[in-house]
Amino acid sequence: MEIVFNFIVSAIVFVFGTAIGSFLNVVIYRIPAGLSVLWPPSRCPKCLNQLKFYENVPVLGWLWLRGRCNHCRSRISARYPLVEAATGLLFLLVFWQFGATVQTVGLWALFSWLLALSAIDCDTMTLPNVLTRSGLVAGLVFQVAKGLWPSLSPIASVNYLVLDGIAGAVAGLWLFDTIGLTGSIALGQNAMGAGDTKLAALMGAWLGWKHLLLAGFIACAVGAFAGGGAIAAGWLDRRQPMPFGPFLALGAAITALWGEAILSTYWQLFFPNLG
Ligand SMILES: [Zn+2]
Repeated sequence: MEIVFNFIVSAIVFVFGTAIGSFLNVVIYRIPAGLSVLWPPSRCPKCLNQLKFYENVPVLGWLWLRGRCNHCRSRISARYPLVEAATGLLFLLVFWQFGATVQTVGLWALFSWLLALSAIDCDTMTLPNVLTRSGLVAGLVFQVAKGLWPSLSPIASVNYLVLDGIAGAVAGLWLFDTIGLTGSIALGQNAMGAGDTKLAALMGAWLGWKHLLLAGFIACAVGAFAGGGAIAAGWLDRRQPMPFGPFLALGAAITALWGEAILSTYWQLFFPNLG
């Protein structure tokens, strides 16, 4: 019985995630274009034909249409169903890790912001202020919410959590400006955009300053590895800018899910006597 129950709950979480992913697609395409995310309803990007409700079902709608608009037959990018499926899987991962808690709801929100910002950064090489600012405020609200449900973090008070969020945001601004400046001097070009710094502040508000440092470290390590690999393979010119937002988002996601485990392993490995 319990297996059946768990399966049903997991399925509901996944479907809910794909529905949020469907909204993220709207955010990803409309925010950079300066359009409203609420109106009009989903339509074909080419002929503006409005989607019927069954064509608008996450993942399945795209499969049903076999990736083409029913009206003008132009191709619909496979990224729509991929973003939806990815959101569903991420929501499931968070739920399996943290169960029915405030933490889960908060991380669903954080992951939604990270996904939208990553995709927009890949498309346009910018991170819109409207998203980085609203995400930072939402992160501080999340810290308050965590403090109000003390079962979640028995030791930490609201004041502590909010201060940690603010310290994280400030650390994000400061740290990534420093990295950006160092990188600019070393490479002779702008290594990090102002948007990346704001994204780091957003992450700090959600993760607190300790986990922000871990997320930043993971982002730089993976980013340097991927960038070096892409240049070596000839996919990327040395002078060509690479969006850094997706790496920051990846670092934040890994830290949000497994940061505690990573840090405690690290302490035990290098400072076994302390703990
Ligand atoms: Zn069309």
